[in-house]
Amino acid sequence: MAQIIDGRGLADKLQARLAEKTAKLKEETGRVPGLAVLVVGNDPASQIYVRNKERSALAVGFRSKVDRLPEATGQEELLALIETYNQNPDWHGILVQLPLPAHIDEEAVLAAINPDKDVDGFHPMNMGRLWSGHPVMVPSTPAGIMEMFHEYNVELEGKRAVVIGRSNIVGKPMAQLLLAKNATVTLTHSRTHHLAEIAKKADILIVAIGRGHFVSREFVKEGAVVIDVGMNRDENGRLIGDVKFDEVAEIASLITPVPKGVGPMTITMLMEQTYQAFKRSLKK
Ligand code: NAP
Repeated sequence: MAQIIDGRGLADKLQARLAEKTAKLKEETGRVPGLAVLVVGNDPASQIYVRNKERSALAVGFRSKVDRLPEATGQEELLALIETYNQNPDWHGILVQLPLPAHIDEEAVLAAINPDKDVDGFHPMNMGRLWSGHPVMVPSTPAGIMEMFHEYNVELEGKRAVVIGRSNIVGKPMAQLLLAKNATVTLTHSRTHHLAEIAKKADILIVAIGRGHFVSREFVKEGAVVIDVGMNRDENGRLIGDVKFDEVAEIASLITPVPKGVGPMTITMLMEQTYQAFKRSLKK
């Protein structure tokens, strides 16, 4: 039976440490990190995510501000607001909650954020830095997974890692972070042939698809480390992962649950990146 990775516990520990570091810097500089979050429209999931980010920021001692903008907000208006945060030295992190309404060009918006304040790591410059092996801001979900590997002493060097899902926010940056730690990485997606066969060769299997209970024990090698990023609702509205936890836990060596696995670490890493952006701004 697999050991279960306690994402909630690790996130709480790291957030407590971050609160201490923030308090210390406040004493030394009289300043604290500031996180500005912009959300457009009324998507219920986005509203929950944004509220959680604000709560977490305040809990670790940051300044936090959420701009809730109406669905009809124009692109130029949003870009102008981003620019005010870009220019304002009191805000060290700027985050635009995705998805944006269809009439707004997501790429243009992400590219408008000052890369030094792009705490989500989605700006093309930060993506390029990551891919060229010189990361500065890294997307929070894969960054949180790397922290889990560190905490649970998961050896990556030389290991076979398979990532299922190639989104810009999870799969692609995950593959790059694993590669940087000298894993041998296979990045798979919806057009991959013989997916279960490929996944079954993995020492480390990361699943970020968005399809509830998609990965069964047929995808998993005995003793593999299995990370489930998925957040899906079953027919009863219960939060479930992409992995059939009960049967996969029987053969994996280490596994994340859903909930209380990857999710809490994502938000923690967002706070950590904001703190790091603040620290870098002090050196300027
Ligand atoms: P996404 O942008 O929809 O990407 C999904 C990826 O999965 C795509 O690359 C897609 O392939 C691939 N895929 C879909 N069906 C597949 C199949 N049958 N076989 C193999 N690959 C398949 O999703 P995302 O934003 O990466 O999120 C993935 C999941 O993680 C979602 O459940 C999301 O809610 C969750 N999530 C959780 C957190 C967290 O903090 N816990 C953070 C982010 C996301 P193609 O590219 O070929 O279409």
